This record gives sequence, structure tokens and C-alpha cells, in this order.
Amino acid sequence: MDLQNKRKKVIAGNWKMNKTVREAVEFVTKLKSLVASISQSECEIVVCPPFTALYAVAGVIKGTNIHLGAQDTFWEQKGAFTGEISPTMLYEVGCEYVIVGHSERRQYFNETNETVNKKMLAVLSVGLTPIVCVGETLEEREGNRTFDVIEGQVRECLKGIDGAKADKIIIAYEPVWAIGTGRNATPEQAQEVQSFIRRLYGEMYNPEVSLRIPILYGGSINPNNISSLIHQPDVDGGLVGGASLDVEAFVKIIHLCCS
Ligand code: PEP
Repeated sequence: MDLQNKRKKVIAGNWKMNKTVREAVEFVTKLKSLVASISQSECEIVVCPPFTALYAVAGVIKGTNIHLGAQDTFWEQKGAFTGEISPTMLYEVGCEYVIVGHSERRQYFNETNETVNKKMLAVLSVGLTPIVCVGETLEEREGNRTFDVIEGQVRECLKGIDGAKADKIIIAYEPVWAIGTGRNATPEQAQEVQSFIRRLYGEMYNPEVSLRIPILYGGSINPNNISSLIHQPDVDGGLVGGASLDVEAFVKIIHLCCS
């Protein structure tokens, strides 16, 4: 069985701190008609609105081929943690996915591999799928440390996750220098790191699991650069930031990946 060809594409839109509830509802109302022809067996479409819009968006996309994700979570399920949101709450509101360890969380909110790991364990424990972000900075790439950094992030973020749960993870390779900069990794750069991640996953778990998990690329994806990225053998989709805020651009990306 050719497992690589059986991997479904995943296109996830990370809206970051953008869109009010009204704007979010308008967006997904348009999106659902524009992607209605996309087969769920070929392609998983995910939108990750801000927390405030999750409930309303869940209502609009119910029963469609669009799935809901959150942009972050806390690692406890409840308690005296003012301002935090738990995986249980996200599950209840209709989320299936949670982005964990986005570089903006690492950069501005002191997220570390250790806290990402706690969040991963908490997310998996309620049956949600984490989309865990890893990626090197420009300084690390220029210092030839990309593979060491990625290996450290993958090993530390997945610490204590057993083989059965390892199957329920999505990894997003997001070079920090490519996020929101307009400078995307070349298809070859993405493939080189993503095949490395898949081999590493195979060593940490087993090669069969590593062939099943989706590894996404993220960093300045747009309708003009997605085709060459998505044709790389280890690029199973994209985590899209800026371009996911514009419904036409996001739909183009989805159709280029999924048709
Ligand atoms: C992201 O937020 O994960 C991202 C990749 O952003 P952008 O597409 O804007 O670079």
C-alpha cells in the first residue's frame, strides 16, 4: 500500500487576532459555498478563528466539509487560571483541532517546548488533534543549526506521547523567517526539512506511523506559491496565515491543493 499517496491534504487557516464575530460568520458563510465541491476524503479544510468567534463559526460550518480549530489552549482542563481556555472547552464548542506552539506564541508569550508539550498532552487527552508548529529562526538557519533545532523541538514537544497518540498529531513546519514576511521557503527547503521530520518521527515511533501523519508547511503561502510547495512528497498541506483572511485567496489555495 502506498501510504504517502493515501495521505489526505490538510489546509488550515490561522486567522490570528483578526475578524470580529460578524466578519467571521460572513467569511465562513461565503467559504462553505465556494468549497462545497471539495471531497472530504481528499482534503481536510480547517479554519482557526479567534476564541470569541469559535461558537458562531461552529454553527455556520456544522454539517459541511469545513472543520474548526483553535489557535491555542491552556494545559489544564479547568480551574483558577484567569483568562485561559481549556481543551475541554474547545472540544465542547466544536473544535477538532488546536494549533500549539505557534512561533508567535513562542516569541511574544514565552511559550517553550516544555509548555507546548504540556498543551499537546492535554489536547490529545480530550481527543482533539494538535497542529504543533516547529521551525528555525533565520539566525539558526544561517548558523547551520536547522536540523538540530527541529529535532530538539519535535522530541521535546512530543515527550511522553505514546505510539497510539502519535498517530493523531499534525506537524506544521513553519520557518520563523517565513512567517508573515512574504518570504516563503523554497519547495526544496520545505521538502528537505519535512522529510527529515518524517524520518525522525519514524525513529521515535515507527515508520508506518510516520508515513501516516500529515506534515504541513507554513510561512507566507499564497495562491502563487502553493502549487510548487504542495507537489513536494512530504508536504501534505499548509498552515496559512495572512492569505487565509481573504476568502478568494484561501479558496484558490484550497482548490490548488485539493483538485
Ligand atoms: C502562520 O500564521 O502560521 C503563518 C504561516 O502566517 P503567514 O502565512 O502569514 O506567513
